[in-house]
Amino acid sequence: DSPLPDLVVVGSGFFGLTIAERCANELDLKVLVLERRHHVGGNAYSEREPETGIEVHKYGAHLFHTSNERVWEYVNRFTDFTNYQHRVFGKYDGQVYSLPLNLSLINVFFGKSHTPDEARALIAEQASEFRTEDASNLEEKAISLIGRPLYEAFIKGYTAKQWQTDPTELSPDIITRLPVRYNFDNRYFNDKYEGLPVDGYTAWLERMADSPNIEVRLETDFFDVRDEFQGKVPIVYTGPVDEYFGNSEGRLSWRTVDLEAEVVDVDDFQGCSVMNYNDQGVPYTRIHEFKHFHPERTYLPGKSVIVHEYSRFAEETDEPYYPINTAEDREKLLRYRDLAKKEPMTLFGGRLGTYKYLDMHMAIGSALSMYDNKLKPHFTEGAPLTSGGVDE
Ligand code: FAD
Ligand code: UDP
Repeated sequence: DSPLPDLVVVGSGFFGLTIAERCANELDLKVLVLERRHHVGGNAYSEREPETGIEVHKYGAHLFHTSNERVWEYVNRFTDFTNYQHRVFGKYDGQVYSLPLNLSLINVFFGKSHTPDEARALIAEQASEFRTEDASNLEEKAISLIGRPLYEAFIKGYTAKQWQTDPTELSPDIITRLPVRYNFDNRYFNDKYEGLPVDGYTAWLERMADSPNIEVRLETDFFDVRDEFQGKVPIVYTGPVDEYFGNSEGRLSWRTVDLEAEVVDVDDFQGCSVMNYNDQGVPYTRIHEFKHFHPERTYLPGKSVIVHEYSRFAEETDEPYYPINTAEDREKLLRYRDLAKKEPMTLFGGRLGTYKYLDMHMAIGSALSMYDNKLKPHFTEGAPLTSGGVDE
């Protein structure tokens, strides 16, 4: 029998690897990472398409951005970043627009050449149906921000395809981060720092795990080996919280995406990395063209890799991607949080463990907080680990 590690981390996504890296390198603990896939990195994992060598993000395009100084300093220990800035274009009714909603889109859509103040006045009038503070669902919130004509063109059809739920039943939070700008700034993110890892996500993720104190066991499902560890060593669990408790409170609902990659025989398929398809009648939500994420790399001429993205409700065997977060889900989640608080020596974290949509910088930031507030005090001062809830 191999000796027990000091800590078991379930899941090798950004949350799990940040915990493992800190405990191994700062506290000199022996950490065992269990990962059920054949690779580390969770959903940020990428690999090169074999024919073209183009880096493809296997679980959907991942753009790194943050305004958190501590997270930025931390991630720069493992990788350099390119100066990539994300921009998205959208097709609607035979016309291409520059997203997010900005002065270019407004002017092209209405066939005008409005100044910022004129556009602001126009949208204010169109948006007067609802007040943003009173909006109780996604439709009301969107109309209160951009008015009904732009909502019906750019949000309604896309959201129907993405969520297959009536926008009046979706939470207004889903589009909280959709910026509206009365200038020609079409950067997708507002954060202070943005870029892509120079030598790819997998190199970055593997460097985080590269420590003599970290053992990663791939293709190992925690539920097959839990008896070896549970109650014997502290566990940080980053898998789905409902699954941990055998779905005793009911399954939480998720959306998944189907990503269909193909090599096409053109140098440049669409001229940008992401093109949204805002018409409801087009079955996919967007097309990614991966070479545009790294314009600084050299590519074989005449070839490109494109990925069509389709969204649908996740069945039991699908990868859970986006928490749907209905009122019923939120009730179930509260019950799981109560169970999680009573689970001895076990902390729950990450996107799946907390049932929260977390961007990468948020997953990393939240793992650094768990390390500071729970794990370090436990291992250095003997503070109890029992108080950990899924919300942390
Ligand atoms: P994950 O990456 O999901 O890792 C969890 C790991 O746990 C997985 O590897 C899983 O296999 C493993 N696991 C689960 N259960 C078990 C078990 N029982 N035993 C062993 N292993 C288990 N973020 C951004 O910042 N920018 C973006 O552009 C962006 N785009 C995204 C696009 C999509 C389609 C999705 C789904 C997410 C996107 N994200 C993006 C979010 C990003 O993927 C998350 O922030 C990140 O994955 C969170 O890391 P995590 O460790 O919490 O979870
Ligand atoms: N959205 C939309 N039209 C667009 C882009 C986004 O209606 O062209 C809405 C949609 O409801 C989506 C949400 O905004 O779920 C968030 O979009 P974003 O592109 O930020 O999400 P991602 O899928 O990349 O996480």
